Amino acid sequence: MSAPIQFDPTHPHALAMYCSDGRFTEAVEGLLRGLGHARLDTLTIPGGPALLDMTSSGLSAVDVMREAASFLIRGHAIKQVVLLGHEGCGYYKARYTYESPEAMRRRQLNDLRQAAHWVRGAHEGLAVATYFATPEGAHVRFDEI
Ligand SMILES: [Zn+2]
Repeated sequence: MSAPIQFDPTHPHALAMYCSDGRFTEAVEGLLRGLGHARLDTLTIPGGPALLDMTSSGLSAVDVMREAASFLIRGHAIKQVVLLGHEGCGYYKARYTYESPEAMRRRQLNDLRQAAHWVRGAHEGLAVATYFATPEGAHVRFDEI
């Protein structure tokens, strides 16, 4: 039996929405800690914020993602939303097989901006930040978009 792990009954004030790709999980948590959020709600799904907008997603996926995001933002009184995309995302590779890396990056950045636009429009008064994660050797670089 492992040692008991602490539980804080209060909800965190930050929600991070990002890809399920576990190679980035620790880096995202580190970024959020650096932004002052020791704890966070997460909404992870392949493609992450891509599913908040119809450009690179389908209607039913957008519906589910928007409903889940709104549920957490309202129900947990979220104050800051952080939307993250990452280089080499399998969701995008599967969807846009023949796109060049440059065009893919432009597409992902545009989707992040569109996702942020939706969050701001649907939930007034929230702080919304967008980042793009790029592996650099043994580290991850985050560029704010
Ligand atoms: Zn991904």
